Amino acid sequence: MLPTRINSTLKTIYCTRCGATCDPNKINTICPKCGGVLYVDYDMEYAKTLMNCDLLGRRPRSLGLWRFMELLPVKEGKNVVSLGEGATPLIRAKRLGEILGLKNLYIKDESLNPTGTFKARGLSVAVSKALELGIKKVGMPSSGNAGAALATYATRAGIKAIIYTPKDTPKTMLTEMTMYGAELRLVDGTIADAGRELSKVKDVEGIFDMSTMKEPYRLEGKKTMGYEIVEDLDWIAPDVIIYPTGGGTGLLGIWKGINELRVMGLLKEEKLPRMVSVQSSGCAPIVKAFHEGKEYTEVWTNPKTIAPGIKVPKPYADYLILKVLRESKGTAIAVSDNEILNAIKELSKTEGILPCPEGASTLAALHKLLEQGLIDKDEVVVLVNTGSGLKYIDLINQYLLD
Ligand SMILES: *Cc1c(COP(=O)(O)O)cnc(C)c1O
Ligand SMILES: [Zn+2]
Repeated sequence: MLPTRINSTLKTIYCTRCGATCDPNKINTICPKCGGVLYVDYDMEYAKTLMNCDLLGRRPRSLGLWRFMELLPVKEGKNVVSLGEGATPLIRAKRLGEILGLKNLYIKDESLNPTGTFKARGLSVAVSKALELGIKKVGMPSSGNAGAALATYATRAGIKAIIYTPKDTPKTMLTEMTMYGAELRLVDGTIADAGRELSKVKDVEGIFDMSTMKEPYRLEGKKTMGYEIVEDLDWIAPDVIIYPTGGGTGLLGIWKGINELRVMGLLKEEKLPRMVSVQSSGCAPIVKAFHEGKEYTEVWTNPKTIAPGIKVPKPYADYLILKVLRESKGTAIAVSDNEILNAIKELSKTEGILPCPEGASTLAALHKLLEQGLIDKDEVVVLVNTGSGLKYIDLINQYLLD
């Protein structure tokens, strides 16, 4: 059970580009001055007095990510819209590790979330905060999983959801959105086109835009992946975290979460992980910009990949993603659809985890990083499987069954 009044240490909201601050008691989207991405900041000194490793350890896992409520933005228990998201297992991949010659390989398995993907984390927190701020109608462009999660939490909250989605979105996710009562608006083209359609109508129709990184709270849900990974490694950060990158909230969230633990003095060692972004070679704007030393991405024209979650031609938070990759001494790497399909097979057969294509891309990337000598055999490596392969069963049947 969550308390009636949550001791949220939410302090301020600031722009990651120009530093402007915004009132966290009001509805916020992007920076009103420069359009930059807004981040939430907490009173860390106060948080330190409320939270420690022992206390967290004693809270039941059944609270899911709300176990970390002091570092989340929601102030009243009654506004929390939850289905038990978070608290997913960090699974030791012993057999796969042996094959790859890695002693400490782990998989953070996000497929156990409600709606079968990590998108549930961000939308549980963002919809809860929307409810707290009195928002009645929300919308987003989605290539599937985010829309399904939005539909789920919005219906629980009694908020109307409108989702713009490309026509080639996997059927499972379209069914989910419909079953949860969202209004679906199908769009020709990619998620970028879907976003443009939403922008055209959102003011007229009074829709609050929950697009990736265009409101500050989805990231807050996703950062709890960083908390959980570190907690499960006995409060020591891993050496490498490999993450499939579309809009970038997962990668940015994990980095924000781990850095908050560092500031609170909850890390047993100074070490921070090297963050690795994986994209498909058919849509790799971050990989290209990273290796060209650029600060921003260019729009990727004609994106093509079997992994819809990472088919994002120009992530809104590109400058933040690129900064984190450089700051953490990580890298960005592209893998082909074929390599992704092989990785789905390999992970299923070695560890009994049927990953989504996006999640499988991290294993494809790991093969390449090992070939390039960028990872040591003794290092602690975490692959994030962002969702369940069952959501892509049509695709998997089509490509992988003999
Ligand atoms: C959305 C999505 C991603 C990419 O997520 P970002 O955090 O926005 O980069 C990866 N995997 C799956 C399954 C997704 O649905
Ligand atoms: Zn700004």
